[in-house]
Amino acid sequence: MAQQFDLIVVGAGMVGATLARALADTSLRIAVLDALPLDQPLTARATDSGYDPRVSALSAASENILANLDAWSRIAPAYRSPYRYMCVWDGEGTGEIRFDAGVLGENRLGHIVENWRVQQAVLDSLAATEVSLLGGQRVTELIREPAGWRLQLASGEAVQAPLVVAADGARSRLRELAGFAMREWDYLHHALVTTVQVEKPHAETAWQTFLPSGPLAFLPLNDREGGHYCSIVWSLLPEQAQRIMALDDAQFMLELQTAFEGRLGRILAADQRHCIPLRQRHAQRYVMPGLALIGDAAHSIHPLAGQGVNLGLLDVAELSAVLQAALQRGEDIASLPVLQRYERRRMGANLSMMAAMEGFERLFHADALPLRWLRNSGMQWLNGQGMVKAGIVRRAMGLGNRLPALAHAPELVGESPDY
Ligand SMILES: Cc1cc2nc3c(=O)[nH]c(=O)nc-3n(C[C@H](O)[C@H](O)[C@H](O)COP(=O)(O)OP(=O)(O)OC[C@H]3O[C@@H](n4cnc5c(N)ncnc54)[C@H](O)[C@@H]3O)c2cc1C
Repeated sequence: MAQQFDLIVVGAGMVGATLARALADTSLRIAVLDALPLDQPLTARATDSGYDPRVSALSAASENILANLDAWSRIAPAYRSPYRYMCVWDGEGTGEIRFDAGVLGENRLGHIVENWRVQQAVLDSLAATEVSLLGGQRVTELIREPAGWRLQLASGEAVQAPLVVAADGARSRLRELAGFAMREWDYLHHALVTTVQVEKPHAETAWQTFLPSGPLAFLPLNDREGGHYCSIVWSLLPEQAQRIMALDDAQFMLELQTAFEGRLGRILAADQRHCIPLRQRHAQRYVMPGLALIGDAAHSIHPLAGQGVNLGLLDVAELSAVLQAALQRGEDIASLPVLQRYERRRMGANLSMMAAMEGFERLFHADALPLRWLRNSGMQWLNGQGMVKAGIVRRAMGLGNRLPALAHAPELVGESPDY
């Protein structure tokens, strides 16, 4: 006999857990299930720096979403590393742009936070709700039934609901079982990820240089015991990634320091390196009757954007608003017309961010002289354009023109568009 719910969220990662929290105060009976056990606290991987290698640059909009759901305050300030400035330069030329949250009267563009701490904060905020957390449960089959979906689990158990949301990540099993068509391609790059200790303070700046091999980012982390730390994401061609992964620590730190032009002095220490093949994926549709994709299950984007989870949390804000409005009107929340309202609000925004990142990536990989001139002189020009830069800062903070209610600062939550 299958357990019955009104809504099942598959995947209790940062995005899926946040959706469950956003709808926890409605009349819906909700279950969130994940292949990982959810009854023990999450922890960081053991590293010398103490920082888990998987971190995200969370925009101000994401911070608002987490704050409105009582999760942000559960991340202790010591573990939220604010960044106020962004410095982007062409490693092959003279172009450089600096952005400052101060142009909008803000003291930060966002925060760098370890992924597991965000996920744990949201799971903790779910503890006081009626949402059922089903940990250690992997979905193996998805069966259409007259009343909705039946999910067969590896444990032999089954759960049923009229509405299922897939938040099971970039290689979503649910998306595949449901037969969503995808557009996907390799970036032909791998991301090398680790945490390093640097000699000089990072000055609350997210640094990014564009090298012929790909972008290299240094994201500022809070100091620990007087040491200065950055999370790095270095995008490399596969053969370069393989070579750099094979270096010993001293050689690696020297190469990294050179690639980064020593902007933060010497690299003093580095954690274990991880290498992730980069692939762009975008579902051609986000919804079908009774089923919706959110977060990386719907779209995964180059980490150069630092936007993956930020887009996923905006999916949550829109989908939860659409479902709550439909509930209030007495509509069937699993119906296609209701779910398509969510798709219409998010697909264009996600696609335009993906296209912008694609264009950026191509421009910086271009070797042709006119394009190199264009990007260097373009960057110098842009650096002098206060208004244009303020617009870019707004966008980097996730504060576009039409924000869902949940993404507004807590004191402004009432100001929402119509659903
Ligand atoms: C190198 C790198 C750097 C990045 N940096 C940034 C950044 O700075 N800013 C940013 O916004 N984003 C960044 N991202 C992207 C960000 O990490 C992702 O967008 C985010 O983790 C996606 O969250 P999610 O909850 O959608 O999916 P996931 O985090 O993948 O969670 C999916 C969950 O589903 C569960 N699951 C999977 N399959 C099943 C199944 N069959 N049954 C049950 N459960 C299942 C998994 O256990 C997991 O808990 C980066 C990504 C990379 C690779």
